[in-house]
Amino acid sequence: MATKQLKLPVTGMTCASCANRIERGLKKVPGVEAAQVNLANEQATISFDPQQAQPKNLVSAIEHSGYGVITDHVEFPVTGMTCASCQTRVEKALRKVDGVLQANVNLATERASVEYAPGVADWSTLKAAVAAAGYGVIEPAGEDVAGHEDVEVAARRAEVADQRRKLMVAIAFGLPLFLLAMAQDLKLIDPWWWGSARQMVHVSGMGEHHQANLNALNWLFLILALPVQFYSGADFYRNAWKALRHGAANMDTLIALGSSAAFFYSLAVLLFGWFGHVYFETAAVIITLILLGRFLEARAKSRTSASIRALIGLQPSIARVLRSGVETEIPVSEVRAGEIVAVRPGEKIPVDGVLTAGQSTIDESMLSGESMPVEKHEGDLVTGATVNRSGAFQFRATRVGKETALAQIVRLVQEAQGSKAPVQGLADRISAIFVPIVIAIAVVTFLAWFFATGDFTRALIFAVAVLVIACPCSLGLATPTAVMVGTGAGAEHGILIKNAEALERASSLTTIVFDKTGTITKGEPSVTDVVAAAGDERQLLRLAASVERSSEHPLGEAIVRAAEAQSLDLARPDRFAALSGHGVEADVNGRTVVVGSPRLMDERGLDLRPWRAVVERLQGEGKTAVVAASDGIVHGVIGIADTVKETSSEAIAELQRMRLRLVMLTGDNRRTAEAIADQVGLAAGSVLAEVLPDSKASEVKRLQDGGQVVAMVGDGINDAPALAQADIGIAMGTGTDVAMEAADITLLRGDLRLVPQAIALSQRTMRTIKWNLFWAFAYNVIGIPLAAGVVYPFTGWQLSPMFAAGAMAFSSIFVVTNSLRLRRARIEPVPTAGKPATRLASQHA
Ligand code: ADP
Ligand code: MG
Repeated sequence: MATKQLKLPVTGMTCASCANRIERGLKKVPGVEAAQVNLANEQATISFDPQQAQPKNLVSAIEHSGYGVITDHVEFPVTGMTCASCQTRVEKALRKVDGVLQANVNLATERASVEYAPGVADWSTLKAAVAAAGYGVIEPAGEDVAGHEDVEVAARRAEVADQRRKLMVAIAFGLPLFLLAMAQDLKLIDPWWWGSARQMVHVSGMGEHHQANLNALNWLFLILALPVQFYSGADFYRNAWKALRHGAANMDTLIALGSSAAFFYSLAVLLFGWFGHVYFETAAVIITLILLGRFLEARAKSRTSASIRALIGLQPSIARVLRSGVETEIPVSEVRAGEIVAVRPGEKIPVDGVLTAGQSTIDESMLSGESMPVEKHEGDLVTGATVNRSGAFQFRATRVGKETALAQIVRLVQEAQGSKAPVQGLADRISAIFVPIVIAIAVVTFLAWFFATGDFTRALIFAVAVLVIACPCSLGLATPTAVMVGTGAGAEHGILIKNAEALERASSLTTIVFDKTGTITKGEPSVTDVVAAAGDERQLLRLAASVERSSEHPLGEAIVRAAEAQSLDLARPDRFAALSGHGVEADVNGRTVVVGSPRLMDERGLDLRPWRAVVERLQGEGKTAVVAASDGIVHGVIGIADTVKETSSEAIAELQRMRLRLVMLTGDNRRTAEAIADQVGLAAGSVLAEVLPDSKASEVKRLQDGGQVVAMVGDGINDAPALAQADIGIAMGTGTDVAMEAADITLLRGDLRLVPQAIALSQRTMRTIKWNLFWAFAYNVIGIPLAAGVVYPFTGWQLSPMFAAGAMAFSSIFVVTNSLRLRRARIEPVPTAGKPATRLASQHA
């Protein structure tokens, strides 16, 4: 049974309890295994069994919960259908496309009608699906094909425009209403238009005329309040009603209840001529402030996805491909793998591929953050979205569409942004029961004050303040906004974090384990010394290289390269065997040759004594000593050096400053490993040498059993099991290959400094989350009792519901803004205060 995943853009969510309700609604659909709704990017991510649940069931579940799903619809002619079975085949092909909700094909009109989630599916994927099924597609005439991808953008924009209109109306009527009401309360105006009333008997208190005139003013208040309450505030009622129909209550319920209480109470005062103050301005101001808050919040929220938009924006829109020898400009989405693409100086490379003609310097900084432009020659890989600097060249497209490195990065980041951090659990549980609890508190507040003082109005105002100050939104936004900004900021620096859970775990690491080769060192070993018995170095190198020809180990390749550089002609080995972690063995011209570590020679019972000095000298220099022997006799030693990356010691110093325990793990000899460790400022005690490839994972496990939270940093080639075993696997990418599923964090360039940066970023993000959550809890815990009038008996201070609405709006904006600060934060790690930083430069200068 294959689980399918679907992402749907959801509309109408206003707060965390909304996300919860949708999740619950989705989970009730048979076949749904998991559902996650992210409030920050307004997406639902659903894992389901396609046998049991259909995408359209999922959409209707969301709609049933009272929310909307943004979908797009396209109709296009299909060619080549001859019979009814063709029709079902095309339908099936279309329905199989991720994101397609419904697909119907009409054989009579030969048209397909497809409803799909934009952003998941798009026009080109639909077209490709039809083509793959063996049919043709006619581009819908006059329709802006590219525009379909922007449906989501357009829908969101319409939502914003509607919000803005409602806010404008609320301000236009609410502000004068508020000013007049304030002026009246402060006795600044004695209603000015009843000039004649002045001449008449001026009665102190509630004279008959005064009362009448006051009434006139109150009617004016009502007229001003009406559009605010029922036009601008319409969504609160609508959403509250939708929730109520499902026996639930949400944020909108609170606002609708609070403002309605103030409004209808005032209306009753006015209509029934009760004696009392009216609170139309309170109702209007509540609505205006909440709308203003939501408006600002939405703007801030949209900035949390700025990083991912920047990434998507890197994708060039056109490509120039060679079709029958002619350069043709086509949309990038239509470039097919295998086609030859031409790139001119200064242009962006449209897709990934292999350079076939010409050469150039390419700026890859936009993807990997690598600032040095890279020289590219024939046969080198080029990556889409990077910028061609100097030369013109052609390349063969290898990865297009969703396969390109950029598309994968974008997908990874989007997935991470949509994922839920475990810390969010508590906030989720609380926001699920938050609204009913607040309503209960409001009721208790009302009853308590009413029975204590007999003052209906006062009791009501306290209750309204409680309803309005409570803010589940800040609870709901605290985690996902920080996760979005944090993971996005990481991507901009070349750090891809798989999901929020990884982010959370990475913040509490205690130990970092490094693979030596390719991680601390460049992983480009080269032969530096050849020491042979009879002084015949060439013969020794030829012998060793003949065996290593069949080896894929970097050490073997280095030996073969050295032999080739000397134009030695190599023999064909027979019976080749790689001795994992030890060396290689093969028959060359009838002789059994062994090439490998000194330890291997010892184990084979070979006499290494005459070579001990050479071996130890090489190892002391940080070189790997490879011994070559045949027929029981050692012929010589080859020294292979792998230089340390320039940035490694800086990274290690930074990690030491962060007080992390560091371990270097290698299959290499201890002395070599310690020499390398010394070069980068690692103590000899932190070296685990001569670890067989299979044991790397168990070494990690051993550290974990000792109570450490371990990150393993490796190139992912031969240390995948260790990466998987570690609490956090950090894979160092070479170039922009991001297809590293085993890793929790993928670094887009082989720069070890990204490790402290990634950890610092996760720590910063977690600190932001915790601070957000603290703020959101504290705000509610303090705000609600204040609004309920707990301090009133002692201080006589009453929290106005208008002020409460302002506080509530501020509260969620504060949370989002606080998360946004993560984007601007430099993610260089902060030196830990107290202990003076050890500068490495002086240690091995
Ligand atoms: P690393 O942890 O550096 O990747 P490996 O576990 O792959 O190391 O190898 C450990 C040791 O085994 C090497 O340092 C080397 O001495 C020896 N060895 C492995 N493969 C080869 C080979 N193809 N040729 C020579 N020596 C080898
Ligand atoms: Mg290795």
